Amino acid sequence: MKAALLSEYHRPLELIDRPVPEPRRPDEVRVKVEGAGVCATDLHTIDGEMEPAGVTLPLVPGHENAGRVDAVGDLVSTVSVGDPVLIYPPFSCGLCVACRRGTDMHCERHQFTGLTVDGGFAEYVVVAERSLVKLPPDVDPVDVAPHADAGITAYHAVKKVAHLALPGTTAAVIGVGGVGHVALQLVRELGSSATIAVDPNAKHRSLAQELGADTVLGSEGAADAVREATDGRGADLVLDFVGSDQTHADGMAMLARSGTYSMIGFGGMFTMPSAAMVGTEQSAVANLVGSWSDLWELMQLHARGNLVLKTETHPLEAINEVLDRLREGDITGRAVLLPQG
Ligand SMILES: [Zn+2]
Ligand SMILES: [Zn+2]
Repeated sequence: MKAALLSEYHRPLELIDRPVPEPRRPDEVRVKVEGAGVCATDLHTIDGEMEPAGVTLPLVPGHENAGRVDAVGDLVSTVSVGDPVLIYPPFSCGLCVACRRGTDMHCERHQFTGLTVDGGFAEYVVVAERSLVKLPPDVDPVDVAPHADAGITAYHAVKKVAHLALPGTTAAVIGVGGVGHVALQLVRELGSSATIAVDPNAKHRSLAQELGADTVLGSEGAADAVREATDGRGADLVLDFVGSDQTHADGMAMLARSGTYSMIGFGGMFTMPSAAMVGTEQSAVANLVGSWSDLWELMQLHARGNLVLKTETHPLEAINEVLDRLREGDITGRAVLLPQG
């Protein structure tokens, strides 16, 4: 089968031919990958920044995968060959306390498709049955592949603060990329806040406009502009999908008293004087992917037609070009590779 392999950091992926993988355990499933989303985390992986998350080379990246069941182990009982599925990227054992609490991403036996084990930048991938979300009828795997990580991450983060998104509040979304553009819509679906989208890129800003953001702002002077748009109060919720030093600082500067700053993007340094946070009773929270049930819920919302997932498709062979464009901020929404194409 075709696969795109990362064998050295800071290098382009190599297109290789390797044997089709076989399920190794009776509860494993082989999925024919029809769509594989390309994510900023893939750039972090290539840059050698994901070793703390368990990355070792060589690796076939790709963690936003959807396709059809191609082979099943003897103990698999919930899917059959041909079923369309979305792959939940964390491995969850189902036995540890974290899994039983429904926080699969904190599983004690944590693995992650496309980070710690080979992922979907290939024609086939092998995963545990527990990782599969069967797609509702009429949902095409290629159309929803990015939900496996981009969508679930947005859903998990918004759901966590949705009880604070009351009528009369304002939620600011910093970064309207692959994850942020889904989050912007989820604030509307799960809450009632007015929305402000902040992005330095004009194409991303027009996407925010199309998706119904109430106010759309550039990054320059964003904190002041948010204050201006909220009669000086600031945003009650700030969801930061960038996570740079600059957006951490801007996010806190635009936050209202007793507001909640939520980190999804990462990489920068978050520093705040405790007196400022205590004096305003502000909170900061962080988010890691989401649970299997978050992904299942998101699929139900998608199947109802309530969400726009903006994608563009490319052959697997175009992977390095797509990664370069992502690095340049030149992708609007999500790029999806078609390993079968
Ligand atoms: Zn991702
Ligand atoms: Zn577990």
